[in-house]
Amino acid sequence: MASIQNYLNSGVIDIAPLLSLVLTKSHAALITDCDYQLNNEEKTQLNQLIKQRQSGTPFAYLSGTKGFYHLDFKLAPSVLIPRPETELLIDIALDLFDKNKTCEVLDLGTGSGIIAVTISDKNPNWRLTATDFSIDALKVAQQNAKTNINFRLGNWFEATPNQTFDLIIANPPYIKQGDPHLNDLNFEPQSALVSGKDGLDDIRTIIDNAAQYLNKKGYLLLEHGFDQQQEIIQLLNNDFFNIQKFKDYNQQNRAVLAQIK
Ligand code: GLN
Repeated sequence: MASIQNYLNSGVIDIAPLLSLVLTKSHAALITDCDYQLNNEEKTQLNQLIKQRQSGTPFAYLSGTKGFYHLDFKLAPSVLIPRPETELLIDIALDLFDKNKTCEVLDLGTGSGIIAVTISDKNPNWRLTATDFSIDALKVAQQNAKTNINFRLGNWFEATPNQTFDLIIANPPYIKQGDPHLNDLNFEPQSALVSGKDGLDDIRTIIDNAAQYLNKKGYLLLEHGFDQQQEIIQLLNNDFFNIQKFKDYNQQNRAVLAQIK
């Protein structure tokens, strides 16, 4: 006896979305078809997924997709799972320039491509470049692209020599080495999460080098940790003005926008 209802009653973590995944049924269809008996193949597949989920694999890696802004993104273990907080960067970026203007936008460390792909899909006139130092991540981002995005392999600005931009965006790694929060993030690429003792190593590299890659009055937009905003503003003060601070949906300090002097 293994009906949908039996499984739904089992209390197993994420059982409804796992059933949806194996049976390709919506949540509503699981309820209406709750007497359906799973066949052996479906049971085997479901039990494997249950085991993986119970041993900590995030659901997004099992389904291989995650929604972000208005799109669904393919995922692989080589890329970070998109976080809802990062949607803030999209809102800020879309407000910066006229939709019909051709402007040059750079997404540094694109991962699954969420920032570049979302912005380019919303504003197809903007020209997007997206970089990552991981070839595996770039392959995922390329699969997610719906428009013509200039993908470049390389570490931060090493990927874009001799190019300049009106807007540079990054959601870089910003967690401190040894931060207990990392214990819950074992399945995600650590190189996309951790950045030195204070979590600011990569943000420092980006801020220190951004000037030579920005057009006149160009902007830098960074996501950061909830307790890093003051320090980042100090770092920006040398080369930037018009520094604006942003909070995420949870009222945590989460992003800064600054214009090159
Ligand atoms: N916001 C993510 C987290 O705390 C970290 C993402 C990042 O380092 N860019 O899980």
